[in-house]
Amino acid sequence: MQPRPNHGSQPVFCTIVPPHLLDKLSQADDPVLAEPARRTLEADGARRHHRRVTALARTPGARASSDPVPAKPHRTLYDCRHGTDLPGVKARDEGDEPTGDASVNRAYAGLGATFDLLLTEYGRSSIDGKGLPLIGSVHYDEKYNNAFFDGEQMVFGDGDGEIFLDFTVAIDVIAHELAHGLTQYTANLAYQGQSGALNESVSDVFGSLVKQYSLGQSADQGDWLIGAGLLAPRVSGVALRSMKAPGTAYDDDVLGKDPQPASMDDYVETDEDNGGVHINSGIPNRAFYLLATALGGNAWERAGRIWFDVLTGGELAQDASFRDFAMLTVAAARHRFGEGDEAEAVLKAWSEVGVPTR
Ligand SMILES: [Zn+2]
Repeated sequence: MQPRPNHGSQPVFCTIVPPHLLDKLSQADDPVLAEPARRTLEADGARRHHRRVTALARTPGARASSDPVPAKPHRTLYDCRHGTDLPGVKARDEGDEPTGDASVNRAYAGLGATFDLLLTEYGRSSIDGKGLPLIGSVHYDEKYNNAFFDGEQMVFGDGDGEIFLDFTVAIDVIAHELAHGLTQYTANLAYQGQSGALNESVSDVFGSLVKQYSLGQSADQGDWLIGAGLLAPRVSGVALRSMKAPGTAYDDDVLGKDPQPASMDDYVETDEDNGGVHINSGIPNRAFYLLATALGGNAWERAGRIWFDVLTGGELAQDASFRDFAMLTVAAARHRFGEGDEAEAVLKAWSEVGVPTR
């Protein structure tokens, strides 16, 4: 058994719906809206604390280095049947026919699409590069308004049906959470401040890339939204976050307004949310969107490749700032594509969001 490459920083416990949003929702006058949000916040808080104690001691799915690296995913889906014991009852194993449960089938497909993009486009077998089995549990808890990756597996709630719907409906959410695993096994960006916002942004980037890849969309066809389809019809909003226009994903009586900045001019200094990791991620998110759409074609081919190279290249510090990351993307673009359009477009994208590249 090999230890997980965690270089001493706190393990990431990312929930796709950030605490600041659930906090707002828990203050709603209507208990039908406030109660599930309050319970979700409480459960997430307890789980966050629990993880600090246990996560580093666990070594899931470790393989001997002599084993061949698998070229196929190994997915197992479980059904929590609205309880909180993980992983739950086995519902679909790799290669099984689809079940009668749409949540199970969507999660299975989402894990498969993420594996497929990593292997086919970037030559990486699963999130650890060694074919790590992918595990997901659906129907977690009652009216649970979140989805998360706990360092070992994916977990999806059904939502309360009032504000949030079933969290398996958004393939980018599935890929976002798995991408936290990819980061954990590579750059291991510390989940605080700018490096934490980069950690979040990298997950949004690969979340969106997996969605576009699975739909066969070019950069100009992608919606560049995170969590489209997750918000119930009563909510005034289109998604949890917008990469193309951070700050515009929702503006709602109950949820408030999307707090993401689109450039460094509006950078948010806060102690909440690990220093605004789900807030300031809007800045590198938009830089990626600007790059991908400037280059055109499939976003995962050039823009995605540059980001993947930085994440896995070994030079990205765990406490990297936006500027550190931006400088490495310029170097990665030159290294892979030479002094061409790509490097120019990378410089321009960061300049537009106000992040220096030198
Ligand atoms: Zn996240």
